[in-house]
Amino acid sequence: MGIALASEERLASLGTGEPALATLCSHSSLQIFHGARAEGFRTIGISVGAPHRFYEAFPKARPDEFLQVPAAREIVGLAERLRREGAIIVPHGSFVEYVGPEAFQALEVPVFGNRAVIGWESDREKERQWLEGAGVRMPRRFETAGEVDGPVIVKYYGAKGGKGFYLAKNREALATFRPSGPHVIQEYVLGTRYYVHFFYSPLHRDGYRVGEGSLELLGMDRRDEANIDELYKLGAQEELLKAGIRPTFVVTGNVPVVLRESLLPQIFEIGARIVERSIELFGGMVGPFCVEGIMTEELEFKVFEISTRIVAGTNLFVNGSPYSDLTEPGLSMGRRIAREVRAARRAGRLAEILS
Ligand code: ATP
Repeated sequence: MGIALASEERLASLGTGEPALATLCSHSSLQIFHGARAEGFRTIGISVGAPHRFYEAFPKARPDEFLQVPAAREIVGLAERLRREGAIIVPHGSFVEYVGPEAFQALEVPVFGNRAVIGWESDREKERQWLEGAGVRMPRRFETAGEVDGPVIVKYYGAKGGKGFYLAKNREALATFRPSGPHVIQEYVLGTRYYVHFFYSPLHRDGYRVGEGSLELLGMDRRDEANIDELYKLGAQEELLKAGIRPTFVVTGNVPVVLRESLLPQIFEIGARIVERSIELFGGMVGPFCVEGIMTEELEFKVFEISTRIVAGTNLFVNGSPYSDLTEPGLSMGRRIAREVRAARRAGRLAEILS
């Protein structure tokens, strides 16, 4: 038996009936509902205000029921209702951001995955401690501008979607920059970005074994980031600046990618080490996580971020990906989550995948 993440009391609301899978109507909710439904679960969409009409356009992904809240933070007020419904919340990439980390931690409803990961993911220092402790290569960090010896990216703490990030070609360019809040100066890594979608199952005993369970690779994407991705058209950052446009990394969409097959050993090794370290630090990650990094021309993958829930890039693969098709044709991340709930329930091991 693995590590119990949820107490008996927390799981009591699930009783013996069939649980429902619930999430906030945003981000990857269509995929989550679609996958849950394919596995035979009831689905509940938590909507801020009236549900968006576009759900009507997708009958296979429309939740069976909508519950409304005036603001995402007020989801706490729905806890009793969700418990009555036997709901399990599937948090996605925007869930914690919208609901807030405190409200999320305090939510008295069973949640898929380990909530303890939030403390390690949302703090850039702790995230670095975790990843470097796992032996994962990250972009160098400069304590002072004086140490800078090449291109850098300046990141604000708590920035959402790379908002306001600043790129400086060198130390001189950095000297002209006036930061507007707490930030870190990081090596700007030249290479190709990959966002790798992993799933860690503590229950599964086959495949690529890590800890007591196994690690699966379900897909990869690259993000379209307005308007930095337009740079190649204008030639250089200066050209954008001359036009009075500040480069930003605001994500507007995603494109599918695959890696050279010879790079897969490195990618799996990174995923495995991150999971192993998470088990030592806080009882382990469960379910989807995304390793976000840059492959350099020396073919070294440098990780700048980890997202520890389902990321929106998985929306590309509602019908499977070039990787998940090699495990099971048509398997999406949303369906994989539902499948884990089903397997844990059958084995009487929900406490190991819910918190
Ligand atoms: P999100 O919350 O959406 O994940 P964030 O605000 O945490 O974004 P990051 O994910 O760290 O920001 O970075 C945003 C974007 O900036 C990345 O997708 C990537 O394009 C670029 N980026 C980040 N770090 C580096 C780096 N060290 N070198 C080059 N580009 C980088």
